[in-house]
Amino acid sequence: MQRPDARGYFGEFGGRFVPEVLIDALEALEREVDAAFAEPAFWDEYHAVLRDFVGRPSPLYAAERFAPQLILKREDTNHTGAHKINNTVGQALLARRMGKKRLIAETGAGQHGVATATVGAKFGFPVDVYMGALDVERQAPNVYLMNLLGAKVHAVHSGTRTLKDATNEAFRVWAAEVDETFYVIGSVVGAHPYPFMVREFQKVIGIESRRQCLERYGRLPSDVIACVGGGSNAMGIFAGFVDDPQVRLWGVEAAGEGLESGKTAAALGAGSVGVLHGSRSYLLQTTNGQVSDTHSISAGLDYPGIGPEHAFLKETGRAQYVGVTDAQALEAFFDFARFEGIVPALESAHALAFARELAKKARPDDLILVNLSGRGDKDIAHVRASVERQ
Ligand SMILES: *Cc1c(COP(=O)(O)O)cnc(C)c1O
Repeated sequence: MQRPDARGYFGEFGGRFVPEVLIDALEALEREVDAAFAEPAFWDEYHAVLRDFVGRPSPLYAAERFAPQLILKREDTNHTGAHKINNTVGQALLARRMGKKRLIAETGAGQHGVATATVGAKFGFPVDVYMGALDVERQAPNVYLMNLLGAKVHAVHSGTRTLKDATNEAFRVWAAEVDETFYVIGSVVGAHPYPFMVREFQKVIGIESRRQCLERYGRLPSDVIACVGGGSNAMGIFAGFVDDPQVRLWGVEAAGEGLESGKTAAALGAGSVGVLHGSRSYLLQTTNGQVSDTHSISAGLDYPGIGPEHAFLKETGRAQYVGVTDAQALEAFFDFARFEGIVPALESAHALAFARELAKKARPDDLILVNLSGRGDKDIAHVRASVERQ
């Protein structure tokens, strides 16, 4: 598995496009990451927290009624219900090592905010979460949950009042208070070393699944599938298999109402190369370079950018990227609940919808591994309202 080059690039993607004031902070973080990652004791503590607090290893599970060749990596069984906690545990340990006094985070639907608030409570950090004002309204239960965990939620009123505006605000606050503050980013995005660091904290998903697959089936999966918002659950599971060239890797983006509709969140499928939130990658932008408004039924995939390493995997052909629409994801959401007794997150339902299509064309002895990135309890009210509107 590849490291970015010394300037933080995967091929021609990545880098460090930030205001001057943040360069020192990113360099200090990079030094700390290099030192910590070289110490077995750092990883021992990380894995102990994942075992006792998060509940890892997460199970591998054959979902044969949905599709005969399907196996799931059950990140939905983690404490707080998704893969995001793997990353926030790692970043909280780094913040403590660096002597930082508080954590800040951006959040869209609130899932990363909740995961950050959770580790803030566990490790004793005050937490400030920046969230678009529209999302604060739409995701009231998660705002309450963050407050319950002791975090303060700041509504951001600029722009479209959603995730990209919250991210801009978190960068601004970080630049103003960089000495005391650790910025916990929620996906494999942002300036170097974030995309690399977050991948290393999510890699546990791929390492466990590879081992579990070999133990149970005596072979590797033929295909690995994950949904892609910023791309952290996908990079996490891909990392376990990227050096096995016979394993096909598939990233599933949210096509929204269709890749051509203008109401989409598929940065690779419908975007072009540019700079967003500190790194060079693909993003959805207008012809004059303004960041486009995005749409997906799933809040966790509703982001105009994508991590630079995915842009690299697409360009090199090592991974393939496809789009699944709102309607297809909803259908998979309902079917999966009924056939398997598991309500998937709407984000994960995108991966399941594509897996079912792939399974129709696959050989009977193929093994299709899907990262079930989270559970769907958080989505029930939204799904119900979407269906009643139709
Ligand atoms: C946030 C989220 C995602 C999307 O984020 P990635 O960084 O692309 O993984 C996917 N699934 C769930 C359950 C999420 O909460």
